[in-house]
Amino acid sequence: MSVFHLITPEIFNDFLTGVGARINCIACNSDTIYIPTVKADTETNNNEVNKYFVWPSAINAKYDVEPDNAQYMMVCKNCGYVSHYHAVIVIDWYSKNRSAE
Ligand SMILES: [Zn+2]
Repeated sequence: MSVFHLITPEIFNDFLTGVGARINCIACNSDTIYIPTVKADTETNNNEVNKYFVWPSAINAKYDVEPDNAQYMMVCKNCGYVSHYHAVIVIDWYSKNRSAE
């Protein structure tokens, strides 16, 4: 399983809350935030079918999308401002906090 398939929008939300990140748009202060997701396509584990994951985009498009080269986005639906969160930080946070679920 891809490590990226660990991070659902709910978990990303938990991460943002857990680290005290601002959820409102830093540009216009709107709370209408959209988190781009991607549907899992080639999963073998039945639990993963039809699940959506936060879309990891490359930080440097010259290289493959690996955790060290990936970021998660948060898009403001009001002004279009895009915030980015480094995937390694989110995945590490999840690894440390998942046992508490
Ligand atoms: Zn905004």
